[in-house]
Amino acid sequence: MTQGLNGITLESVQERDQKDPLAGFKAHFSLPEGVLYLDGNSLGAQPTAARQAVNATLDQWRDELIKGWNQGWFDSPERLGDLLAPVIGAGQGEVCVTDNITLNIFKLLGYITQQAPTERRAVLSEGGNFPTDGYIAQGFCQVSGFEHRFLPEGAELAEHLDGVAVVVLSQVNYRTGALRDMAAITQLVHDHGVEVIWDLAHSAGALPVHLNESGARFAVGCTYKYLNGGPGAPAFLYVHQRVQDGGWQPLSGWHGHAAPFAFDADYAPASDISRFRTGTHSALAYTALEASLALWSEVDMQALREKSLALTDLFRDCLSDLFNTHGIEDITPSANQRGSQVSLIDGENGYAIVQALIARGVIGDYREPGLMRFGFTPLYLSFEDVWQAARHFREVVESGEFKDPQFHVRGAVT
Ligand SMILES: *Cc1c(COP(=O)(O)O)cnc(C)c1O
Repeated sequence: MTQGLNGITLESVQERDQKDPLAGFKAHFSLPEGVLYLDGNSLGAQPTAARQAVNATLDQWRDELIKGWNQGWFDSPERLGDLLAPVIGAGQGEVCVTDNITLNIFKLLGYITQQAPTERRAVLSEGGNFPTDGYIAQGFCQVSGFEHRFLPEGAELAEHLDGVAVVVLSQVNYRTGALRDMAAITQLVHDHGVEVIWDLAHSAGALPVHLNESGARFAVGCTYKYLNGGPGAPAFLYVHQRVQDGGWQPLSGWHGHAAPFAFDADYAPASDISRFRTGTHSALAYTALEASLALWSEVDMQALREKSLALTDLFRDCLSDLFNTHGIEDITPSANQRGSQVSLIDGENGYAIVQALIARGVIGDYREPGLMRFGFTPLYLSFEDVWQAARHFREVVESGEFKDPQFHVRGAVT
């Protein structure tokens, strides 16, 4: 028997891998040799089938040329939306895979506010959210004349809804990993006569999401994080069936037109979720994502959640004694209040520790100020992977390896 990490032995985690019902999914991912990847919350790993799918689409482009658009390319926003719907608790015809989160928020802000009561002239963004959600709300307010406000971090939402037409909230906070109660908050916001756009960037594919059951009407999310759709993979947008015929969304392009190939001079929105499309999309990008979504159709989301919580706890349990002795603060929320990440604060050494880990092939990421962020993706991480990552973390910190000047140099993308 090895001595273990904080008493947790390698043998014990190998036993857990043998009993893991999701263990088979790892074989469907192409992961580089020697890498322990704890950054699937920034960019998911590559499903092996994605390469074959993209190659097949390249062949289709070569051989079929323009005919490809009638062979599945044109309909991919709706087709992939229907494939994604069960993963986020949405119905068929309620999800459109399109553009990126930033643009999708803009479209929904325009769509919602044009129907808002005239006394509600403000858009509320949450402080501490991923910045683009606030930036685009500010841009929207500049062109629309709406007033932009921030909900201070930690403030009571109910006290900040006066005069607000719509609020944008993340279900899981990208820094802390804190998980919101979607059903309760949706109810509260609706009771105040306000709409909410849920951002699922750190919850779609990370845990079971129940959009319909929660009463949610609007949501956005990306597919390149936990959903493994590839770098720059198209985002998604959810609009509940009952609120799909409310007028225009402001980025009124030809693909969202009721008859895109009629080439009418005037815009008329499509009657369904397709109105949230804008213009021509990348068939290649959709192909890679579709290969990933085929895998997701096999995933038991409850088992995913259980493994996610077990992996995050394992990492922390292997290191809790070290955190105490080295002044590292574990701000990861408790089990029912977190997404699928571990968040650690070390204001002085956090950046260098993450760089030293990356040099060892343990990839996490760093966010200012002081935050070391580790994403746990149950489809391609084993219990042993997590144990080994914790071993490296311990060695980097205990040996002082992170103090090497090379780990203090800042790159463009962190
Ligand atoms: C990753 C992320 C985004 C990314 O937005 P894009 O427009 O797709 O680049 C937006 N919001 C949140 C909360 C995120 O975590």
